[in-house]
Amino acid sequence: MRSVVTGGAGFIGSHLVEHLLAQGDEVVVLDDFSTGSRRNLASAEGSPTLSVVEGSILDRALVDAVVTSADRVFHLAAAVGVRRIVEEPLESLRVNLHGTENVLEAACSTGAVLLLASTSEVYGKNTSDGLTEESDRILGSPLKSRWTYAAAKGIDEAMARAYFDRYGLRVAIARLFNTVGPRQTGRYGMVVPNLVGQAVRGEPLTVYGDGLQTRCFSYVGDVVPALVRLSETPEAYGRAFNLGGAQEISILSLAELIIEILHSPSRIELVPYEVSYPQGFEDMRRRVPDNTNARKCVGFEPQTRLDEIVLAVEKSVRERAEGRNSSEYPVLDSAGPVAPSERDRESRRGASEAEEIPARW
Ligand code: UDP
Repeated sequence: MRSVVTGGAGFIGSHLVEHLLAQGDEVVVLDDFSTGSRRNLASAEGSPTLSVVEGSILDRALVDAVVTSADRVFHLAAAVGVRRIVEEPLESLRVNLHGTENVLEAACSTGAVLLLASTSEVYGKNTSDGLTEESDRILGSPLKSRWTYAAAKGIDEAMARAYFDRYGLRVAIARLFNTVGPRQTGRYGMVVPNLVGQAVRGEPLTVYGDGLQTRCFSYVGDVVPALVRLSETPEAYGRAFNLGGAQEISILSLAELIIEILHSPSRIELVPYEVSYPQGFEDMRRRVPDNTNARKCVGFEPQTRLDEIVLAVEKSVRERAEGRNSSEYPVLDSAGPVAPSERDRESRRGASEAEEIPARW
């Protein structure tokens, strides 16, 4: 099986690449390394069945060339992260709309199966208890950059569905709800690596707003096999599937949990939205998935508990600060985490600040 992974050097993409290589696929990564990095592929790069192509999904000829002999395409390349979207709405729209159209066209003309990565952001401000794939979307004005990601991903899904209806493109859509795990960077505002990094460095954990907004975090190691199974399941084609975590938690409780299980000396700092985001920013209060369709179609069950996820992210954060690469799904240290010494903290602070843009805007 020959698989193309756009965005294969990103956080989720690199885990997917490792998974596909392990099951014997020949894998081609297409990535422009805008938010992905070669370091994410370090453990895969020795594989003789992996090739990496540096380039943009906006380059139609390149996308065609890469997809031409593929059996399936996992389309994960996108402008991601609330911060990046708000700061660079035009570039984000171009990548997320025109880039996806190029991938759809290429898959359609070669007959490859396509897995389109979408997002829970498409539900916008809908705070229903258990969002189903049919739930209404509640979005703010299209003139506010905050909503451009949800708007573009919604169009991507609609285009995928239209290619399925019109041309029989075998495409499945995965709506990812706050996927987290090793290698995710806090650079674009993602809360788990941000707070874990702060806890490891002994800095205040920055909780935005009142901290009572909730999310359901899912582990990358649970999500990746479901992406592969969706691509292999004909009943999934033409449909969208929520892939989210089982436990709803407020960001404040998440911060408390991180401090507790990492034995961190850090305190929690509530940061008003006006300070943490540009003016007019609206946060989502709640986002809870109903995973029934994914469970029925491909047996998706989020297995990994939040405390296990936090420990896995902590291991990755420490390895990155020390210049080592995180393994695929790290084996958790049975001895438990140890509070860093002051000297360790100082050296880590230097290393991680070189890597991470400061959390505030
Ligand atoms: N958040 C926070 N502190 C941070 C980063 C994020 O309190 O350092 C909040 C953010 O405002 C949001 C939640 O955590 O309410 C999840 O943010 P993230 O960007 O990870 O995901 P998304 O907003 O896309 O669900």
